[in-house]
Amino acid sequence: MAVVKACKILITGANRGLGLEIVKQLSENSFPKQHIFATCRDPDGPKSEALRELVKKHPSAITIIRLDANDPCSIKESAKEVGSLLGNNGLNLLVNNAGIVANGTIQTSSAEDMKNTFNTNVIGPLLIIKEYLPYLQTAAKASGTPGMSSNKAAVINISTLGGSMSTMPSLYKQFPVLPYCVSKAGFNMLTVLSAEELKADEILCMALHPGWVKTEMGGEKAPLEPKESVEGMLRVIGSLTEEQHGGFLDYTGKPIPW
Ligand code: NDP
Repeated sequence: MAVVKACKILITGANRGLGLEIVKQLSENSFPKQHIFATCRDPDGPKSEALRELVKKHPSAITIIRLDANDPCSIKESAKEVGSLLGNNGLNLLVNNAGIVANGTIQTSSAEDMKNTFNTNVIGPLLIIKEYLPYLQTAAKASGTPGMSSNKAAVINISTLGGSMSTMPSLYKQFPVLPYCVSKAGFNMLTVLSAEELKADEILCMALHPGWVKTEMGGEKAPLEPKESVEGMLRVIGSLTEEQHGGFLDYTGKPIPW
């Protein structure tokens, strides 16, 4: 089975839901050189309790860093802090997982909902990629191996079927979440253009759909448990090569049409 062997990994929205489960599974299988920067917007708050407990179990494998995807200053500060802890081999794997949902249709969506979803789901990830790019470039150069992989240098964007132009119309009645879908379509374009721009640096960029998962966002009706979704996503992430660069896959590895 393909496993994630990236040494230095950063995950956004790591305090609950899928982000927390990613940190949990990575830290359970972690090898001595692996280190996870688990970022969240309120490290000392009640919503980060489970992450703090996880760090107690794996103190040398996880560092919690404050990062609010809605706040450019916090993104810059986090990059400075992580940079001071990284060492010479840079950052191998950046997982843009933090996201928010807003319900609505053409008739009910507000400008506020559109701005909020864009800030967190598109502008945040753009600034995060920008601030962490020097560390990803360092990792790509330091690896000394040709080609692309998530162990070398990669940006994984946790997107959704909801951002797929060809799939979402048939799901819209069941999931009337227009601001979310429009923002995730923007996030998908960010993925494709990052892939184009970072190709020369051999930094792999792709989008991953986790399935419909029981989290605060996914709700109780979702068929998948976070454990199964994250096991699948980590398997996919561990198996990526340049063939999937600029691609869109689900947690089973199945390609999704844009
Ligand atoms: P949750 O709502 O359970 O968790 C969202 C996470 O994002 C939390 O850690 C939250 O932190 C964090 N977050 C929200 N806003 C910010 C911000 N401004 N800065 C930093 N962190 C922030 O969602 P899921 O775990 O289900 O979703 C994770 C990703 O998977 C999302 O991008 C989502 O779009 C995607 N996805 C999920 C699906 C599902 O069925 N669950 C389906 C398809 C895609 P806080 O505690 O501070 O709010």
